Amino acid sequence: MITMKRIPLFHSIRWKLVVIYILLILAAMQVMGVYFIRSIESHYMNSFNEQLDIQANLLAVNLERYLDDDRIREEGSEETRNEDINHLVENLFALNGVDVQIINRNGVIISTPGKDKQLIGQKNLQTEVIQALSGARSESTRIDASTGQRMKVLATPIKRNNQVVGVIYMIASLERLYQTIGEINKILATGTGIGIVLTAAMTIFLSRTLTTPIKEITRQATRMAEGDFNQAVKVYSNDEVGYLGQVINQLSNRLKEALAINREEEDKLTSILTNMSDGVIATSRDGTIILANQRAIELLNIPSIEVAGKKLEDFFPLPDNFQFDNDQSEVAFRLFFQQGQENYVLDVVMSWFRIGESGERGIIAVLHDVTEQEKLDRERKDFVANVSHELRTPLTTLRSYLEALADGAMEDPEVAGRFLRVTQQETERMIRLVNDLLQLSRIDSGEEMMQKQVMSNQQFLKLVKERYEILDPVQQRVVWKIPEQATLITIDPDMLMRVLDNLLSNSIKYTPEDKLIEVSSQACGKNVEFIVRDEGIGIPREDLKRIFERFYRVDKARSRQLGGTGLGLSIAREIVRAHGGEIMIQSKEADGTTVRFTIPIASEEDELDA
Ligand code: ATP
Ligand code: MG
Repeated sequence: MITMKRIPLFHSIRWKLVVIYILLILAAMQVMGVYFIRSIESHYMNSFNEQLDIQANLLAVNLERYLDDDRIREEGSEETRNEDINHLVENLFALNGVDVQIINRNGVIISTPGKDKQLIGQKNLQTEVIQALSGARSESTRIDASTGQRMKVLATPIKRNNQVVGVIYMIASLERLYQTIGEINKILATGTGIGIVLTAAMTIFLSRTLTTPIKEITRQATRMAEGDFNQAVKVYSNDEVGYLGQVINQLSNRLKEALAINREEEDKLTSILTNMSDGVIATSRDGTIILANQRAIELLNIPSIEVAGKKLEDFFPLPDNFQFDNDQSEVAFRLFFQQGQENYVLDVVMSWFRIGESGERGIIAVLHDVTEQEKLDRERKDFVANVSHELRTPLTTLRSYLEALADGAMEDPEVAGRFLRVTQQETERMIRLVNDLLQLSRIDSGEEMMQKQVMSNQQFLKLVKERYEILDPVQQRVVWKIPEQATLITIDPDMLMRVLDNLLSNSIKYTPEDKLIEVSSQACGKNVEFIVRDEGIGIPREDLKRIFERFYRVDKARSRQLGGTGLGLSIAREIVRAHGGEIMIQSKEADGTTVRFTIPIASEEDELDA
């Protein structure tokens, strides 16, 4: 089971987007803020300086004549002049927060408008003042030691006829200016903060439109991994993610089709393998079983759970020189099994094949059950051997008698007569044998045409009895139980006669003179049953199941002596089967034998035809 993984918040795309945007905004605001504040600062500073300059120049122009020594003389006293200067400066000067000192050419402060007069008369020998006294305008920025405020200092020379007659000294606090810039800075920072919060919120919202389809696609991919191809991804947009969704849907469809085809192929293969009449075992190259079909399991008679993972040689021996890793294309051999009483013969063909694209070699072993074929083969060989054997014995006898006759036995009429009778008997025997064989082969090949007619079992038994009594009028020891109730059957009387002939002759052959032989018939369900029972020597148990085989005789010597070939019962069985019936034999050694065979009761159609 594959479950969709929950991604921790700090690993999620949403989180990353939020962080990226905040950083971007911060960087942008930083760059912008620095540039903006700088330019605002320089702008304010410049205009402040400009105003100071203008004021200084204005004062300088107006004060120039007051500072002339002649003027003191005109006014009368220095005091009055200083009063005038104060008056002028106070009227002209319009800058708040700026302290002004008017200094004469000796560096002595002569006027400080708006301030206490303590400083008047003192010397101001600041660097800026000294510089201005030498004729150059001078300015600087410094931090006031007592208040810690930034101050702007400006000293402008007052000239008359190109002679420095005094200095205007101005000192202004810059704190207000920096306060304004600080406020602008604060506004900027607040703006940035609000911007960041808004961006974060918007990113979270916007990223949802990005991550929702991705989540959907991931969910579908997870379902696909679990083998569920029935659902499709909902495509939200036409962008890359939307396209990815479409592609995933196509992929899902293709996979579904491919899997269906695969499954179909697998089903086909499985049904072929299970329905095969041959066993198939596939192994890897070291002989470990990968797959075995039902038939192979049956043939090797092993529980199916034991197969997988086992080695081939755990189930049957491999040929001595067999190697798993070789270049042979095929190895064939035969296996003989014994299972209880039964013997099995399997033909095994092993071929090498390549597994998949890796090209690793594996082995396919095909097991073919040839037990039946082997049996038929053996029967055919036995049959030929039996026929040859059966014919050789009478032929050898014939030859020796004929040789004896040729060697002079012919001279003695009595011996010659006896010998000729023997040769005649042997010839008869051979003819009988050949006729039996011919009839068997005709029945086998279906050439024997039957002349069927409807008659009752009663009629038929009477017919057999009459014939028997004519053929063998002396030995009348058979008890005939002709049924009182007649049942109609469709039979070829001549053929069926052969069956009864054989059964009777067997009973007569193997039953002592004083023991009972009985022939009877009765209706039995859908069939009519014919029974030949004797109290003769019987048949040993182990011979019973083979008694219907061709040439099978219990005691070969004795049977041959009695003129038997061992074909009688097999011919009887073929004839009964050709009538749609079945023949059975019951016997107990020394107790007697009962043979019964069935013939189906004639159908109504048959009766009408008759
Ligand atoms: P054929 O019938 O061709 O003359 P056969 O009688 O020897 O030769 P089957 O009739 O096929 O051959 O019988 C096969 C064998 O079964 C016999 O050889 C005999 O050993 C045994 N057999 C058959 N019927 C009886 C019986 N009623 N009692 C004892 N043994 C029997
Ligand atoms: Mg017989």
